[in-house]
Amino acid sequence: MQRYNVVRLIREGLSGHKGWQPAWRKAEPKPSYDAVIIGGGGHGLATAYYLAKLHGMTNIAVVEKGWIGGGNSGRNTTIIRSNYLYDASAALYNHALTLWKDLSRELNYNIMMSHRGVLNLAHDEGEARQLKRRVEANRLNGVQAEWLEAKEVKAFCPPISVAADARYPVIGATLQRDGGVNRHDAVVWGFARAASDMGVDIIEQCEVTGIDTDKDVITGVRTTRGTIATEKVACVTAGHTSVIAGMLGLRLPIESHPLQALVSEPLKPVLPCVVMSNAVHVYMSQSSKGELVIGAGIDPYLSYTQRGSFDIIEHQMAALIELFPFVSRVRMMRQWGGIVDVCPDASPIISKTPVKGFYVDGGWGTGGWKATPGSGHALADLVANDEPNAIAAPFTLERFVTGNLVAEHGAAAVAH
Ligand SMILES: Cc1cc2nc3c(=O)[nH]c(=O)nc-3n(C[C@H](O)[C@H](O)[C@H](O)COP(=O)(O)OP(=O)(O)OC[C@H]3O[C@@H](n4cnc5c(N)ncnc54)[C@H](O)[C@@H]3O)c2cc1C
Repeated sequence: MQRYNVVRLIREGLSGHKGWQPAWRKAEPKPSYDAVIIGGGGHGLATAYYLAKLHGMTNIAVVEKGWIGGGNSGRNTTIIRSNYLYDASAALYNHALTLWKDLSRELNYNIMMSHRGVLNLAHDEGEARQLKRRVEANRLNGVQAEWLEAKEVKAFCPPISVAADARYPVIGATLQRDGGVNRHDAVVWGFARAASDMGVDIIEQCEVTGIDTDKDVITGVRTTRGTIATEKVACVTAGHTSVIAGMLGLRLPIESHPLQALVSEPLKPVLPCVVMSNAVHVYMSQSSKGELVIGAGIDPYLSYTQRGSFDIIEHQMAALIELFPFVSRVRMMRQWGGIVDVCPDASPIISKTPVKGFYVDGGWGTGGWKATPGSGHALADLVANDEPNAIAAPFTLERFVTGNLVAEHGAAAVAH
């Protein structure tokens, strides 16, 4: 793999940038692999990377129906945090946060990780009590968390309005200082480059159309570029998990909803952190290009259209202007949507299935980006060893039978 460093950058700059190599190989499908990962998003590519790096499984393929990072990985607002309520979630998301911290160096690829802090606002006493409880739970789990009173919120994030006569006044907030944002395509490309370098085949424009089994044991996948024999298939397809599982006749406890986001014209640096509000249902950060990146909750109906409806935009902008009055003078540039798979307890699935050799990583709802390296790490372990490790164990499909749910609606509420 061609290393990226300052010396090479200067050398290439002086020689017309003619020496750069493609970041990853354009692979053709082979007749068989030890494992096939369906879905070339952040989670699928991270899984491939950790399978190769930690488990020595390099005869594997990531098959992607479009281009890598063209799914939710390329549509999300990249908010990273780990301040969930329950022990199982804290372990999963904090594991991911730990991996994020060193990922640029590990991948030799700048993922533009910015630990600028995430504020979760409270607008009434009930919400403040819930959030303070979450701060205590977070601290017990080693998650960085603190409670700020309204004037401390204002000091940390000056553009926010803490006017007492607002319809939803800000009475305080939790702050996770090591939460933040990063750069979605850099993460995807960084994982792809490192996995490809270890021998993983990344095959784009290759849609899985069927999965072959023999007596409930995986034997291969059918794709638009031919049939591939394999004994292990990992389904890592975000908003299409049920579609892939349906190819095997499996019905998963998942609903698929549109989730949308929008960005403003670029501004000078104005917002120093990520701000989220469950009550008014909006969140915002500022990208390194200067755009305000704005999101809300899911559209309430089930759909596979990647758009979202206008009333959600109208509601989120009304809420945002109340929190940040200056936004009323900012023009919006782009809006888009993705499809998110939501489980009944707002927690993901990392699991074996009744079909031997078929593994599912999905149901991340509105907040799976933050888990990307942790999810890939845990799924790689599951695929390699055929047993969930301690981090994945609470997120297997059995919980929907035993009732041992990880009910994170409170902490996952406004999308992310
Ligand atoms: C608008 C929006 C904002 C979001 N904001 C945040 C946020 O701020 N923070 C956060 O933590 N999370 C956020 N999320 C959620 C996050 O984007 C996802 O949970 C995460 O990116 C999922 O990653 P993935 O790799 O599993 O999925 P994807 O990136 O969607 O990858 C799955 C891939 O599977 C491919 N695929 C599907 N079917 C097939 C097939 N039959 N054959 C081959 N390939 C197939 C798709 O083309 C796709 O590229 C947001 C989501 C949206 C839509």
